[in-house]
Amino acid sequence: MAQARALNIIIWLLAAGLAHGGEVSVDPGDNGTDIVEDTTEDTDSRSSEVAVAVEHLVEPVAEAEEPPAIPLADAVTAAAGKAEPLMLLGAEIAPGTARRLSWSATELFEGVPVSTPVLVLNGAYPGPTLCLTAAVHGDELNGIEMVRRVMHDLDPGKVSGAVIGIPIVNVQGFRRGSRYLPDRRDLNRYFPGNPNGSAAARIAHSFFANVVMHCDALVDLHTGSFERANLPQIRADLRDPDVVTLTQGFGSMVILHSSPAVGTLRYAATRAGIPAVTLEAGGPSQLELNEVKHGVKGIETLVNTLGMIPKRRLWGEPEPVYYRSSWVRADNGGILLSDVSLGSSVRKGDILGTITDPMNNARTEVRSPYSGRIIGMARNQVVMPGFAAFHVGIETDEAPVEETYEPVLPDTHDSSNDYVDGMSE
Ligand SMILES: [Zn+2]
Repeated sequence: MAQARALNIIIWLLAAGLAHGGEVSVDPGDNGTDIVEDTTEDTDSRSSEVAVAVEHLVEPVAEAEEPPAIPLADAVTAAAGKAEPLMLLGAEIAPGTARRLSWSATELFEGVPVSTPVLVLNGAYPGPTLCLTAAVHGDELNGIEMVRRVMHDLDPGKVSGAVIGIPIVNVQGFRRGSRYLPDRRDLNRYFPGNPNGSAAARIAHSFFANVVMHCDALVDLHTGSFERANLPQIRADLRDPDVVTLTQGFGSMVILHSSPAVGTLRYAATRAGIPAVTLEAGGPSQLELNEVKHGVKGIETLVNTLGMIPKRRLWGEPEPVYYRSSWVRADNGGILLSDVSLGSSVRKGDILGTITDPMNNARTEVRSPYSGRIIGMARNQVVMPGFAAFHVGIETDEAPVEETYEPVLPDTHDSSNDYVDGMSE
């Protein structure tokens, strides 16, 4: 508990450091004003389970000027000559040094600039630029601490390439303890953004143009959403070879194939020629030390496998790759108590949990329709019928191919209008 409190203090200090002009009224725990948090009619928040068939709705992203000729896996060995200064946000970061910069979107709700730290480490040797983004959803805290640990563990004198870490992308949501922006839009449905669009689209555009476009690869850190937690896992579109290279670098981490939803940072970055994956670990509104350590180990292993730091012993046996997954939903309302935990292996027919009606004491069992592994699940809570309670990774031998690919977990009816709240990215 003392450790958790210490982490909270660190987060608070980090937040306080963001404020301009001595403003210190930062209360990350205050979500009292977030009265619309649980509305589920949010078409912006459609999950990555939904088919990516609405590309025309999104501003076309400027495609990368020249697609990188060198595969990501060879980026360090192919880098020739001396490391160059890194130009970012109007600053010049010399090779072998680290700097703390700040980014703020040009237009904000209150007319008052709010900036957020951008940690930059430019290595002494040439190589790719890896970006780490966290708290695109303001209530997802584990990634904030992961970025801090990774950035402070690296020695710029030994790194080949650069690492850019943004611990809190959605600083306004973070301050309110909310997943959303103050207008309750989900920032992670607006990338790559639009300079003339909604507030969310403008913030997304500023971030994408000024920071993300400088990356050669990106890891976006998330947690489960709405009282759900995820087993530490990488979500990636395994049809893209450079994305596959990224996923193979994390060591002992479950990999889940998932086609990114339109507007997510992962989707927009990959479309712009920057291979990107999502790292999910734990649940929202908490700092979970085991999940943080797992994520940090995964990212440090990635930096190692990409050749950006001198080789250390690599981490563990690779975990399975899940090409399919499905959410098991509650058929009854009541008190959900789980019989399994994150990472449990389950067989078809196994009891995952029970739902008890608190009024008449009627009890129903939630059973798994699949054999597989629990890669995400709801915390114990009161649920309504239809609530996505257990996320089961299903092992299959078949890798996804473009023609036969189906979105993960299509509903039996028209899924395109469904808000699926179980995924979190
Ligand atoms: Zn998220």
